[in-house]
Amino acid sequence: MAARIDGKAAAASVVERVKVEAARLSEASGVRPGLAVILVGEDAASQVYVANKGKMAESCGFRSLTHRLPAETSEADLIALIEKLNADPAIHGILQQLPLPGPLDARRVIAAITPEKDVDGLTVINAGRLASDVLDEVLLPCTPAGAMLLVRQTLGDDLSGKSAVVVGRSQLVGKPMARLLLAANATVTVAHSRTADLAAVCRSADILVAAVGRPQMIRGDWVKDGAVVIDVGINRVPAPEKGEGKTRLVGDVAYEEALEHAGAITPVPGGVGPMTIAMLMANTVIAAYRAAGLPAPTF
Ligand code: NAP
Repeated sequence: MAARIDGKAAAASVVERVKVEAARLSEASGVRPGLAVILVGEDAASQVYVANKGKMAESCGFRSLTHRLPAETSEADLIALIEKLNADPAIHGILQQLPLPGPLDARRVIAAITPEKDVDGLTVINAGRLASDVLDEVLLPCTPAGAMLLVRQTLGDDLSGKSAVVVGRSQLVGKPMARLLLAANATVTVAHSRTADLAAVCRSADILVAAVGRPQMIRGDWVKDGAVVIDVGINRVPAPEKGEGKTRLVGDVAYEEALEHAGAITPVPGGVGPMTIAMLMANTVIAAYRAAGLPAPTF
């Protein structure tokens, strides 16, 4: 039976570290980390995420600002706000909540964020730094950074000799995850919707990362005995057993089946999910240290 990798506990300890590092920075330089979150429109899920990020930032001792803009905001006005925040020395992290409504172009909007304040790690510059091993300057995308922390916590920092399979090749999760595993010396395969015999590819993995967005697609017998399974997927599915119209969250891995094979596995919820917001806080404190010209903590 696999060990359960507790993402909630790991996230809580990252947040505790962030609080300590933020206090240390204030003492050393008088700088208080500042995080600005921008929400455009009324998307219900985004409102919850933004509120949680603001609360978490405050609990870390950060200056926390939330800019709520109407759905009809023009791209020029949104970019003008980002440029104002880019120039504000009290702000170290800028997060544009996605998705953006209507005609707003997420690529152009994200590109307006100065890479040193891009605490979501989504700019082309930060993707390029990760791809080019410029790791002392990069801000990593939060979900793969959090998933990688769970891998390191389970297997250690050096993955020499291990084979890793990442299912999914998105810019947000799959590609950066593969790059982080490679930087830790794993031998990495990236699988996707055009991969032949995905089950066999998955069975070769000592570390199997699922970032697909398809509920329980990865079956138990796709998992090599003893493998570490990191399930990034978050999928809402009907749960008639809980009552009419009820739903529940499941990952991309068939968890109960995979428990029989894996050495360790992240549950959904309670695995990678809580790590994302914790790594956002970590990125903000890192950005604040760098802005103050001090060596940044590593997580
Ligand atoms: P995405 O952009 O939709 O990418 C999905 C990837 O899965 C694509 O590369 C796609 O391949 C691949 N794929 C789709 N169907 C497949 C199949 N049948 N076989 C093999 N590969 C297949 O999704 P994402 O943004 O990376 O997110 C992936 C999952 O992670 C989602 O469930 C999302 O909700 C979750 N997520 C969680 C967090 C968190 O905080 N924990 C954060 C972000 C995302 P192609 O490239 O060939 O189309």
